[in-house]
Amino acid sequence: MRTIHLALLLSLAAGPALAQANTALMANDHYTRSHDYDLVHQRIVVSAFDWDSTSFLGSVTTTLVALRPGLDSIILDEGALLENTAVSDRGGAQLRTARHGDTLVVFPAARLSFGDTLVFTIAYRGRVRNGRGLTYITTDGLPHRPRQIWSQGEADDNHNWFPTFDFPSDKMTWELVATVPREDMAVSNGRLVSDVTRGQTRTLTWRQEQPSATYLVSLVVAPLVRIHDAWQGIPVDYYVYHEDSAKAWRLFHVTPDMINTYSALTSVRYPWAKYAQTTVADFFGGMENVSATTLIDALPDDRAYQDRPWYPWILIPHELAHMWFGDYVTTINWANMWLNEGFAEFMPGQYWGRKLGAHAAQDYYADEYRQYMQIDRRRPMPLASLGSNNIYPKGALVLEMLRAYLGPERFWASVHRYLDDHAFGVATTDDFRQAVLEATGESLDWFWNEWVYQAGYPQFDVAAAYDSTQHQLTLTVKQTQTDSLKADSTGFKFTVPAVFRMPLEVRLGTAAGDVTQRVEISAREQAVVIPNVQSAPTMVVFDDGNRVLKTLHFEEPTAWLATQLRRDADLWNRRWVIGQLATRTADSAAASALADAAEHADYFLTRADALRALGGFPAAAAVPAATAALADTSAAVRTAAVDALGRLGGAQASARVRGAWTNDSSYEVRAAAVTALVQLDTAGARALITAALGEPSYQGSIQNSALQAIALRNDTTFVEAADRLIGPSRSPVFILAALGARGSARALDLLVAHLNEERRTVRGWALQAFRYAMPRPVALERLRAAVDGLTHADTKQAVRDAIQALEAQPER
Ligand SMILES: [Zn+2]
Repeated sequence: MRTIHLALLLSLAAGPALAQANTALMANDHYTRSHDYDLVHQRIVVSAFDWDSTSFLGSVTTTLVALRPGLDSIILDEGALLENTAVSDRGGAQLRTARHGDTLVVFPAARLSFGDTLVFTIAYRGRVRNGRGLTYITTDGLPHRPRQIWSQGEADDNHNWFPTFDFPSDKMTWELVATVPREDMAVSNGRLVSDVTRGQTRTLTWRQEQPSATYLVSLVVAPLVRIHDAWQGIPVDYYVYHEDSAKAWRLFHVTPDMINTYSALTSVRYPWAKYAQTTVADFFGGMENVSATTLIDALPDDRAYQDRPWYPWILIPHELAHMWFGDYVTTINWANMWLNEGFAEFMPGQYWGRKLGAHAAQDYYADEYRQYMQIDRRRPMPLASLGSNNIYPKGALVLEMLRAYLGPERFWASVHRYLDDHAFGVATTDDFRQAVLEATGESLDWFWNEWVYQAGYPQFDVAAAYDSTQHQLTLTVKQTQTDSLKADSTGFKFTVPAVFRMPLEVRLGTAAGDVTQRVEISAREQAVVIPNVQSAPTMVVFDDGNRVLKTLHFEEPTAWLATQLRRDADLWNRRWVIGQLATRTADSAAASALADAAEHADYFLTRADALRALGGFPAAAAVPAATAALADTSAAVRTAAVDALGRLGGAQASARVRGAWTNDSSYEVRAAAVTALVQLDTAGARALITAALGEPSYQGSIQNSALQAIALRNDTTFVEAADRLIGPSRSPVFILAALGARGSARALDLLVAHLNEERRTVRGWALQAFRYAMPRPVALERLRAAVDGLTHADTKQAVRDAIQALEAQPER
């Protein structure tokens, strides 16, 4: 699974908190649910979908094997809204059942012996609370929104639309038969067995012939076109709306090459019968349903590619990586979920590194680092823990560190071993450690203990002293991380190691050439003596190649930093140096080092980082570099130049940014220009915001800049204009929420009115705004006042639930 990060929706990211771990971590098996049968196969037949009542008809035939002698009851998960009409075994005997909430107990006609097979069929009238298991989407007269249905199983929602064992530890094969309106397509897992149109309906049968986890059972029903591609004879299909068919090839055609690269890296050939990628509305990002990934319907247009859209850069390769990590080998329980998500987040960096070179991989992981640091500040958690908040970025970073430590041959041999040993099965974190042990002979218990089972990362404090008579440099290396984590109510607490162990390399620049030394980091404080340094160093790189996940405090002379910025090939190291130089705004040597990097660095990320740093320097030192950068070939660099000019200010900066707003071909540059110009030219801000609100762009980035400017300026004169944009766009509801939170009664009135309007979708957005984008007291007051007057039953219920949830939520 991967969630999209929209700037405007970032405030929503907090979301509901997951359950916290409160038992010993090393025994993560503890979180695996017990059951007394082996789920073998399910045949899931669904039809008669009704969008108004979010209902359908279902019939599920389950094959299972008893794992207990004398088994007299089968416990399945089944959503309480599914109404069973008949439960019968293969012989036609009606079976007795019992229901408790989301639990169904089926009593076989006779007790089963150990190893006995039972086949039984549950016929039911299906209904979902929209969004639980199935999401029914109505067009509501909105653009780019055909009527559709999509399923979402992970973590445990699939039982809301078919009875099953809704936990990842027991895999099965399945068949899905869907009867849908004749103009619709139904996409599911595995091989398409048949596709028959009769009258006004069409019945498609899909068969998933290799076992996988039940949370990966998937169904999408929508009017879709199939764009066919292939990899080595395996169908690779892209299902999109008719209106998106021209955009699909450019976006998705990278897939066969990614399949090829992942197959080669893991030495495990793509394991499934086909790979489908299907786009749907209102999706949170992507979901790796086995051989049938579901994705958000935000296909980039041609112009958007210059801004390196998130979709092909991360989303497509992330979900594809799950076909191996998550779907082929699956975490046995949710406490080991990093095995799914860490690998899926790690693999795109490997792909881009192979395709575009080492800088592209470093660029990719630099962003993972940024995300991880943000998350860790909120709460340090171990990778292998239930509800861990950092499994995506820290998972990717720890795997990249392991790859660097082991070297590529040993790393990929270990990964192959892991995949091969648990093919079509499940795994724990220790299974992965065992695979590394078997492939390399290294136990690495310390690595798992420090980086996977405990929280945090080393925080290095380094000082350097050169002795010109002894010709040696002494580095004092301290680890300063502290364990301030609190115990929970049961007394359990996560720990942060006082000492992290890892080898790294120190590189010194000298007049006579570079001196390098390998260092085993292994103590809270250690001295590292580097002999034979014949002349004073011109730079000191503490962790050459950035092999260790860390923060670094190291006071260095500007001259050392300037040399490193010019010479260091590693992008994380360069970004760290730029961060150091950025604080030296009165130092002209720092300014010229940054200006030099902004113009000459061989990778765009460094040029952009240098420009952002220059934004804090005196205008005279920075405006020329930022102006020159407006002609850079990289849109990311031009965006950074516009940001910098916005901060630098002055008439010249203002004219340059206006030029970028008028002439640049990149959406992101123009979006940044709106943000900058609103500050640079307050007199022209109104006209600019009005123009930007009407400007089309990928993912509405230009419009979003204008909306953010409205919120930032608390400009309530735009309330009506923002409200008129609701429908074609979702973002304005959050601006109304922001203005309402700051006292605009009119904005709140408009949002309340949207809770009562005809478009179900917009009602949902308005409720989201109250639920997630507003201070709790304001939201509660308005929702309580509105709830009785609401005319749509579904929204009324949803508002009641939201009130209850807000009442239960601690003050933020
Ligand atoms: Zn994922």
